[in-house]
Amino acid sequence: MGESIVIMGGGVIGLSCAFELQSRGSKVTVLEPNNCGGQASGAAAGMLAPYSENVEGPDDFFRLCLDSLRLYPKWQETIKQVSGQTFEYTNSGSLYTAFHQADLLALEGRLLWQRQFGSSGSILSGDELLRLEPLLSKNVQAALYTPEESHVYAPHYVSALEQACRVIGVNIQENLERVEIVQWQQEVLVRSADHRLFSGDKLLVCSGAWAGELASTFGLYIPVHPIRGQICAYECEPAVHPVNHMVFSSQGYLVAKENGTLVCGASEDIAGFDTSVTAKGIERLQRWNKGVFPFLNELVPFHRWAGLRPSTQDGLPLIGPVGGSNESLGSNRSNRSSQSSRVMLAVGHYRNGILLSPVTAKLAADWVYGNSSISPTSGISTTSSSTRSSIRSSTPSSTRSIEAFSPERFGRGLRV
Ligand SMILES: Cc1cc2nc3c(=O)[nH]c(=O)nc-3n(C[C@H](O)[C@H](O)[C@H](O)COP(=O)(O)OP(=O)(O)OC[C@H]3O[C@@H](n4cnc5c(N)ncnc54)[C@H](O)[C@@H]3O)c2cc1C
Repeated sequence: MGESIVIMGGGVIGLSCAFELQSRGSKVTVLEPNNCGGQASGAAAGMLAPYSENVEGPDDFFRLCLDSLRLYPKWQETIKQVSGQTFEYTNSGSLYTAFHQADLLALEGRLLWQRQFGSSGSILSGDELLRLEPLLSKNVQAALYTPEESHVYAPHYVSALEQACRVIGVNIQENLERVEIVQWQQEVLVRSADHRLFSGDKLLVCSGAWAGELASTFGLYIPVHPIRGQICAYECEPAVHPVNHMVFSSQGYLVAKENGTLVCGASEDIAGFDTSVTAKGIERLQRWNKGVFPFLNELVPFHRWAGLRPSTQDGLPLIGPVGGSNESLGSNRSNRSSQSSRVMLAVGHYRNGILLSPVTAKLAADWVYGNSSISPTSGISTTSSSTRSSIRSSTPSSTRSIEAFSPERFGRGLRV
């Protein structure tokens, strides 16, 4: 009989971890104050774009993202099979646009290092670019084309994940209103607003932008904050308005979905836990969208929404045990589970939680089962880094460490 695991949070991260853990023999309970997928995960554009999202260099975060992208083909197939539900998973490739010569130089630099990490990308301009994306503005000078990038329809993906969890026996408890930790050191005990108690051998915290609330519980500095993303969608007839790739610029992105909508995101505002949409936020997106695709001058978005990205102080997620070590997390160094800890955090995935869901699930299950299930094709470095700006130019290796994501990296000191 596997261990019993309590998971706080029914977003894409909590559900992915639940699916992987239950599949490996754990008895999993997911506790969600509201509805599964009702927060950031259901609001996401669904891009799986490690190359476009990581513009600076091959740091630990980029490598984690790349490993997750490579897990996706099999992962999404499994979720579809087990759930009996389908969802869009499209390998559209992406175009990162340059409107000025100075931007083009940056794209060329990026292509150089990304080629070492599996990109078969190229810089396109003129007729070549217009052949791929005929309606693109003539002001676009060139674009970095990355064929490897894909996207999912996030709300359907999360719904299928939830269903897959239910099919294999995960106990999902929704609408609990409040979920709070009673005990986490000697045993795991969690209470809902109606005073029900849920116990387990281990606790996995996947509460997204709300994780900072647990700082005093764990006596740990958890600098996770909500960053609101406002986003909108146009209804486009694909035969009339073909958009064939994810199109990025320094100002945002556009993604055409197979249901005929063109999703355009997203703002990055500090608004606390407010998920309302503002006229200013959407107008800014609209202005930019017209500059990329002039046909959008004639259209207005039919749908506007917002979600709270779980952001961290250094831009990296917090993935790892609290009060223990990272020994068994994707490392080849030990086959032991980090017994010293009953709690693991998997939060702070910021702009890339949909992309990072499979790799986070594997790392969470590796923590419980004490092995390394991922062959790191991208070679996560064994050296830890503490900020997004600490970039190494190392070539791919076959070792991995996720020390860079340790929840303890910001230090202890808060009263338990
Ligand atoms: C507009 C927008 C566009 C995005 N686009 C992309 C994209 O294209 N690609 C990509 O990879 N990522 C994207 N993201 C980011 C992605 O959505 C997030 O990184 C991801 O959803 C985080 O997942 P999560 O499960 O950690 O958080 P959430 O989905 O927010 O789930 C956390 C859950 O925890 C629950 N919770 C809160 N407190 C507690 C508690 N005390 N106990 C138990 N549960 C609790 C919440 O109710 C919530 O359901 C986007 C985000 C936004 C907002």
